[in-house]
Formats: sequence, C-alpha cells, structure tokens
Amino acid sequence: MLYATWPDGEPGCAGAEPALVRSRRRSETGTEGVHLVRRVVCPGSFDPVTNGHLDIISRASRLYDEVVVAVLINKNKQSLFTVDERADMITEVTREYGNITVDKFYGLTVDYCRKQRIPVIVRGLRAVSDYEYELQMAQMNHRIAGVETLFMATNPEYAFLSSSLMKEVVKFGGDISGLVPDSVHERLMERLQGS
Ligand code: ADP
Repeated sequence: MLYATWPDGEPGCAGAEPALVRSRRRSETGTEGVHLVRRVVCPGSFDPVTNGHLDIISRASRLYDEVVVAVLINKNKQSLFTVDERADMITEVTREYGNITVDKFYGLTVDYCRKQRIPVIVRGLRAVSDYEYELQMAQMNHRIAGVETLFMATNPEYAFLSSSLMKEVVKFGGDISGLVPDSVHERLMERLQGS
C-alpha cells in the first residue's frame, strides 16, 4: 500500500498537477500490486464536535480511503475542552465509520499536510459568511504549498450549528439534543452545568 499522493513539483509550486486527479488516474491505469491510498484531512478546532462536523466527516469517509481528522492546538484561543478531550470525543463518535484517524496538530494546516503527505483539505461551508474566509484560506494554502481544498456544502439540517453556539445554549440550559452526539451532550452538561 502506498501513500503516494503528494502533488508533482516542488512544494509551493502552484502549477502542480492536482494530486486527487493524479492518484485517481493512476489507480485507473492500475500498477499491479500497488494500491494508492487517497487520504484527506478535515482540520478544525472541534470544541466540541457537533453533528454538523460529523456530517462532513462521514460524507468525506465515503469518498476517500482514509480521513484524518486533525484537531488544532490553538495556543491563542481558550477552549472549553483540552485538545486530548476533543480528540477522544471525535475518536469515540467516528469509530463506526472504520476509516477515520484522529490526530492533533499545531501551526499551519499545510505544514501538517506536507508532513503527513496529505494533498487535500476538506472543509464544510455553512453559509455565505463562511465563504470569504474559507476562500482566502484555500487560495493561500494552494499558493504556499500546492494543497487543494475541497468544499462540502453543509446539510441544511445543520447549517446553523457551530460549537460556540452549542456551548452558549447549554450554558443557559437550552436543549441541544439531536445536534451533538449523546456522549458529547453529556460532556457539555458536565463541563458547563456541573451535572
Ligand atoms: P475552525 O475553527 O477551523 O473553523 P471548526 O471546528 O469550527 O474549526 O470547524 C471545522 C470544520 O467543520 C470547518 O470546515 C467548518 O466549516 C466545518 N463545520 C463546522 N460546523 C459545521 C456545520 N454545522 N456544518 C458543516 N460544516 C461545519
């Protein structure tokens, strides 16, 4: 099994052939005895993971051989859950998908991609308000590392969901059942209401 999916050319070469296309073409041609594994990363804070995140992760897991969910260690932002707690919750609720790896990273997503040889980032788009920032990030990531970003339109059922809104609602006793996995709901209640 090979993880041979980094774009051709030097990292940072914006003209590199998109790795996704290249790897698909190569598997169609079929090098005997070689299976190219198509991997993507879903990066984010996941503080904590919601059903909106899971919708994107599970759809990506049906399109790719392996999905790496990379939890950002953000030293400038105070999080409710530690990075280990966030990663543990994701591991627990994605176990059934069978092809998810959970990891943690610090710094630029493209440096993580380079180190792990992952050529594609998958991001969820909820609304126009996400678009400007996400577009800017995607263009910068392509410019500096040749890494592609694929956007997945959110399921309208979860379009209004964000981790910060979940925390706000739970803090003041609102009901978020059905919007986060049950185990995450319990952890949120424990942390924010002490129950
Ligand atoms: P970040 O701080 O990097 O945006 P988040 O944890 O907020 O981290 O989000 C991680 C990824 O999940 C992003 O691609 C974001 O757009 C996506 N996402 C977050 N909430 C939803 C949702 N309700 N539906 C679809 N995608 C979502």
